[in-house]
Amino acid sequence: MTFNPNAEIRSDNVSAAGRGGGGFSPRGGRGGRGGRGGLALGGGAGCLLLVVVLVYALLGGNPLDLFVGDSTQQGPAAAGSSLESCLTGADANERDDCLVQATVESADSTWGRLAPEAGIDFVEAQGVIFEDQVQTGCGAATADVGPFYCPADMTLYVDVSFFDALATQYGADDGQLAKMYVIAHEYGHHIQNLSGVMASADRSRTGPQSDGVRLELQADCYAGVWAHHAANSVDDEGNAMLAPLTEQDIDSALSAASAVGDDHIQGEVAGGRVQPDTWTHGSSQQRRSWFTTGYEQGTIGSCDTFAAPEV
Ligand SMILES: [Zn+2]
Repeated sequence: MTFNPNAEIRSDNVSAAGRGGGGFSPRGGRGGRGGRGGLALGGGAGCLLLVVVLVYALLGGNPLDLFVGDSTQQGPAAAGSSLESCLTGADANERDDCLVQATVESADSTWGRLAPEAGIDFVEAQGVIFEDQVQTGCGAATADVGPFYCPADMTLYVDVSFFDALATQYGADDGQLAKMYVIAHEYGHHIQNLSGVMASADRSRTGPQSDGVRLELQADCYAGVWAHHAANSVDDEGNAMLAPLTEQDIDSALSAASAVGDDHIQGEVAGGRVQPDTWTHGSSQQRRSWFTTGYEQGTIGSCDTFAAPEV
C-alpha cells in the first residue's frame, strides 16, 4: 500500500521525543482511564537498557505491548518537537517516521467515523517517535520493548528502528503494510481504552484463551477493521490518504501478525520451547485469524473476542 503522494500530513498528532527520552506529550496529563498495575514490562527497567528487542523476547516479552507501567514512575512527559519535514503522503512513502505519522492520521480519520457509530466517545490518539528511551505517562520505557500504547496519556510510542527488527529478526516481510499493521494494532489499544474494554479485562492471567490474549487479538482485529476502511480515510482537506489495498498489502500485514505471534517468538525467534500457558498476545495463527476477521467484516462488532467461546 502506498500513501497518496498529495495527501497532506498533519503536524499536530505525532511528535518526536528528544534522543534519550527528553519526552514529549502534546496533550499530556489527561490520563487515568486505563487503570494501573496490569502488564508490567518484564526484566526490570534497569537491565533492559542495554539489551535489544530480541533479548526482550528471550525474557518472555512480546513486542507490541500494552504498557501500563509502574505508577510510581509516572511523571510528566515533556514537550517534543513536531515532525516538520513530514508534509505529504510522498514523505510517508519514503520515511518511516512520516509513515507513522500518516498512519496515525489515517486511523484518526477511520476511527473518528466508526467509534461514535458504536457508541464510543472518541478522541484522537497521539503519537511519539523516539529513540532508545522515552518518558511516558506510564513511566520510563526503552526501545527494547518495541512499539507500545500508554493508556494514561493515550499515546502510541514508536521507535522506528523496530521496523527493521520486525523484518530481519522476527521475519515479517518488508512491505509498508507490515509497518502500518503495527501502528494500527497500537491504535486498536487506544479504541479499547476509550471503550472501557481495557479497564475491564483481567490481565493477570496468561494463555491462549486468557483475557490478556483476547485483548491483544481484539487489537489485531481492530487493525484489520482499519485496513478494511483505510482507502476511505482522508486528510484534513478531504483527500484520500491511501491507495486501495492490494493482496500483497494484506500478505504483508499477515506476515507481521505472524511474526509477533507468541509461538513464533518463543520458538523460531528466541530458539526456546513454545509454552502456550505463558502467552500474552496469541499464536501466529490466532493473530492472523483475527486480523482477517476485522479486515473482512470491517466492523467493531466483529471483533468481540471476549464473547467468542474460543479465540
Ligand atoms: Zn498489543
